[in-house]
Amino acid sequence: MDENRQHKQEQLEFQTEVKRMLDIVVHSLYTDKDIFLRELISNAADALEKARYIEVSGQQVSACPLEIRIDTDEKAGTLTIRDTGIGMSRDEIIENLGTIAHSGAKKFLETLGQKDSSDVNLIGQFGVGFYSAFMVSDRVELLSRSIHGDNGVRWTSQGDGTYTIEDAEVDERGTTITLYMKKDTAEYADPLRVKEIIRQYSSFVSFPIHVDGEKVNTIGALWLKNKNEVETQDYEEFYKFLAEDYMNPLLHYHFSVDAPLSINAVLFCPAENMEMRGLGQMEHGVRLYSRRVMIRERAEDLLPSWMRFLRGVIDSDEIPLNISRETMQDRLLMQKIGRVITGRFLSYLDELSRKDPEAYLVFYKKFGVFLKEGLAGDSEHTEKLLKLLRFEISDGEAEEMVSLDEYLDRGDEPLEAIYYISGSSRNAIEQGPYLEVFREKNIPVLYSYEGLDDYVLSMAGAYREVSFVSAESADLSLEREMKLMTEEEAVALAQWMAGALGEKVTDVSVSRRLTGSPALVKNPSGIPSNLERWFSMMNQEVPRSPKVLEINPDHGLIAKINELREKDEDRARRVADQVFDNAMLSAGLPVDIQEMVNRMNGLLEESLSEQA
Ligand code: ADP
Ligand code: MG
Repeated sequence: MDENRQHKQEQLEFQTEVKRMLDIVVHSLYTDKDIFLRELISNAADALEKARYIEVSGQQVSACPLEIRIDTDEKAGTLTIRDTGIGMSRDEIIENLGTIAHSGAKKFLETLGQKDSSDVNLIGQFGVGFYSAFMVSDRVELLSRSIHGDNGVRWTSQGDGTYTIEDAEVDERGTTITLYMKKDTAEYADPLRVKEIIRQYSSFVSFPIHVDGEKVNTIGALWLKNKNEVETQDYEEFYKFLAEDYMNPLLHYHFSVDAPLSINAVLFCPAENMEMRGLGQMEHGVRLYSRRVMIRERAEDLLPSWMRFLRGVIDSDEIPLNISRETMQDRLLMQKIGRVITGRFLSYLDELSRKDPEAYLVFYKKFGVFLKEGLAGDSEHTEKLLKLLRFEISDGEAEEMVSLDEYLDRGDEPLEAIYYISGSSRNAIEQGPYLEVFREKNIPVLYSYEGLDDYVLSMAGAYREVSFVSAESADLSLEREMKLMTEEEAVALAQWMAGALGEKVTDVSVSRRLTGSPALVKNPSGIPSNLERWFSMMNQEVPRSPKVLEINPDHGLIAKINELREKDEDRARRVADQVFDNAMLSAGLPVDIQEMVNRMNGLLEESLSEQA
């Protein structure tokens, strides 16, 4: 190729495929026209990236600031996009803009043929984004000078099958594209409209973008930077911009992955859990980018629903500019990226919990509920999510929180199960009947104060292959002698009580686990009590399931019932009913309040008149 040969203006034809595509772009695409600017800025940014690469790789090239300058001329109805990137030589222009090297173009045509015009978004995905300029322009003029040469080139086309190309004076390296707007797209020569589109799609392009001399993207692609180069304050500013929050984030996690996919991301956890404040369900707030170009504002099909409290950016080179929910391949890709990010985020939290347990607990108290929601719905990360849970524990201080690992590694002997007990507070649990046998046997028990815990743990089943067992249904017994009645008496009393309580119970049995309480209830089958509690908390109707009542034959009250049933069976029945209701209340289960109050008043009155 003779570099010094002068080229007069020539008119050349586009390759057939380009022609066909231009025909569709010009004549039948009406929606989403804004995206042309995203495509041209994305090309400019690519060209700048390449120039930057050449500069840093030490080749001798003229230095100039790497930036994008956009100028509008409302009177003339033009929009000019200029970059100081790599530029193109004459041959490169013919190659890049006159033909489609990528096999993708054919696919693009097929896709356009099948679907409605809104799929113009796909244009970038197939490597033909440049042509979207013709959606809004009657004529496009491009001036370019390659970073490697001294000659400029002018290229023009009306998108009608031919283009002209000739040598031209171009002072600076890079590319300038001028769009002569169509009558009905004059809005794109309005600087306000242009800035709005840039804010929407290209805020974080990592090169400065000026519109009529004013810098419009102030933030840049922070997530692509090396995290050692980013100050805390930069993260804070970035978060506030992104989340439209006035508070600083609680945490940020900045990471990049190379395999199995290349991903750069920064995730933020807000200072407050807005859902906890009763402000309704939050919307996903993580944005999805591909090479600094925003593809989705809300990455809801990327991340699981429980991660909706996060804000941030995920950028992956692997994602096509318009990833589609409709195609299987794209959905699989999204799932794959989502899995990688979820896994990384959970590992980050685990690391945080070890390096800075206090910070982790602050996070956990506000956002732990999302982890539990994740456990209820995400079977893939169960182990990692369980690892992050924290509980108060029976042999610990109030407010002291332990992990499941700490629980399992606590004693010298391996534990047979991970026992947990639920109640409204530490005090309520410790006063109740269920803890007694554990106390006696010195087995630590985790305390749970949220109905969700019960649900989540019963769903999860086990951790480190040790099963979760609710304290209520634990099969534990104490070896001891009965002092107040004989075994036969106790069994006979249980039989009588089963009759007295009727429908409320399927059985009454003699307890081997109680020390201080007269009785406790168990769910023999069907929905365990913890789930019943959870459902009633969620205001859902649950069929009341009959219970098994366990009675403590060594408790004074139970022994008294046994005496009373000979003398005054009616009263003994009412006391038995009350013992049952009390056990239900201890389990956090509902009773018929009015019936209970009337019965109690009767029993109290009787006991007071006996005193008198
Ligand atoms: P893609 O960007 O996916 O390759 P486009 O149709 O957007 O597809 O662009 C086609 C090609 O034209 C680009 O690959 C690039 O080589 C060239 N090109 C477009 N715009 C510029 C520019 N501003 N500077 C340098 N080269 C450009
Ligand atoms: Mg492009």
